[in-house]
Amino acid sequence: MLVAIVMIALSAFVLYQSRQDAAEYTRINLRNIALIAERDIERNFALYQLSLQTLIERLRQPRIMTLPLAVRRQVLFDRMATAGSLGTVLVVDRSGRVLLDSDDATPDQVSVASQKYFIVQRDDPHAGFYISDPYSSPLRFGTPSIALSKRISESDGSFGGIVVLVISLDYFRALFGVLSLGPHGSVSLIGKDGVTIMRQPLGNGILGKDISQSHTFRRFISAPEGSFSEIASIDGVRRLYWFKNFPGLPLIIMVAAAERDMYALWRTRAITIGSLMCIFGAVFIALSFSLAAQLRRRIQAEDELRLIARTDVLTGLNNRRTLDEILAKEWSTVKRNGSEFSLLFVDLDRFKAYNDTYGHQAGDDALASVARCIAHSIRRPRDTAARYGGEEFVVVLPDTNASGAQAVAEKISAAVNALNIAHVGSEHGCVTVSIGATSCRPDEDDDVASVVRAADAALYEAKAHGRNRVATVEKLHG
Ligand code: GH3
Ligand code: MG
Ligand code: MG
Repeated sequence: MLVAIVMIALSAFVLYQSRQDAAEYTRINLRNIALIAERDIERNFALYQLSLQTLIERLRQPRIMTLPLAVRRQVLFDRMATAGSLGTVLVVDRSGRVLLDSDDATPDQVSVASQKYFIVQRDDPHAGFYISDPYSSPLRFGTPSIALSKRISESDGSFGGIVVLVISLDYFRALFGVLSLGPHGSVSLIGKDGVTIMRQPLGNGILGKDISQSHTFRRFISAPEGSFSEIASIDGVRRLYWFKNFPGLPLIIMVAAAERDMYALWRTRAITIGSLMCIFGAVFIALSFSLAAQLRRRIQAEDELRLIARTDVLTGLNNRRTLDEILAKEWSTVKRNGSEFSLLFVDLDRFKAYNDTYGHQAGDDALASVARCIAHSIRRPRDTAARYGGEEFVVVLPDTNASGAQAVAEKISAAVNALNIAHVGSEHGCVTVSIGATSCRPDEDDDVASVVRAADAALYEAKAHGRNRVATVEKLHG
């Protein structure tokens, strides 16, 4: 589970990182686009300003003003053609009447006196190059345009009219049209007063729209440039914005990429990798669980097998093989500790007769009952009982002295008597046991077999002295 969780967490982290990368990449991209568009616009505006400045200087030369109209137009507007390819140049007198028009040789009494750019230039000697809001130019068949104007000041400083460069918004449209911002991206040019000059894509009523009160616009003017993410009020699409205030012009450029576009690639990748990771994790966990279950079953089966291999089927006590292991281990432990070691040999009395009288099945039951008595009579954790073979049992009592061994032996004998299993073939009338006990403090060269022999001898003693009793024999040497 932990491994799967770590794996999934790692891939989630990597995916999150690549999402951040996608946003960062988009931000850089937006910034570059904004910068390129800004440079292009700024360069063109510098050209327009230069053209208007040149025009004003030429207008001031009396020699030019005395030329015939056609020649005068040529002289005044020829170099304007470079910049003029983008718009119309007008020379307007102090009353607002168009004197000269680069597109029209005979402008007939058109007046721009009501246009805001005329009023601004007339009333403010310091207006400089004034960029108007978008309007439908009457001189250019209603084409959406902006006007760049400059005041002509007379030698005494009084208002002498204006020169105007009408720039078709098609220029911005063409510029913005080639920028790739994704299917839901947008780019806008906005005046510092909050009036939209151009937007791509262009919707109805966007040109000239005043967004100065919008939250987005307030962020645009809060810093020279920057980025933020916001849901656009125009179409409800969440976008990442990059905006830049033009350093030399009252304009703001804003480029935006829709978050769904910028994360589109990432999303497909995230869905693929994410779901694969989840499937992988789930399979991993499922496999681990089934493996763990199998392992548990196997361990359980092995434990059972081990137990079966160690115990005697009939009595549930340790079998002969286990007894040999226990004897060897306890013997060496007691030897090392220098403590005492006791052993009991338990044998059922007249058991052949019991079998003959009551049958083997009853004999087996009696054997099992006696085994239970033995098992219940030993209490200490290291005490063990085992079936030595047939109707004989051995009880191993490490760290137990002779009197302790005697006590255990008496306890077993009493418990078997208490069972009170009828046995007509026995002189005691019921199933009894004879017990041979031996105790010793093992020496370095002592051997456990001698202890078993001593216990066996003790058992023989018990049998010889009337059965249903405990006999003790000192360990025989050799
Ligand atoms: P003693 O009092 O001298 O020990 O007499 P005994 O009859 O018990 O001695 P003996 O060794 O001659 O007989 C042992 C008998 O124990 C032989 C066999 O019938 C019986 N016996 C041994 N193992 C089993 C067993 O697993 N089940 C049954 N039912 N009887 C067994
Ligand atoms: Mg026997
Ligand atoms: Mg016997």
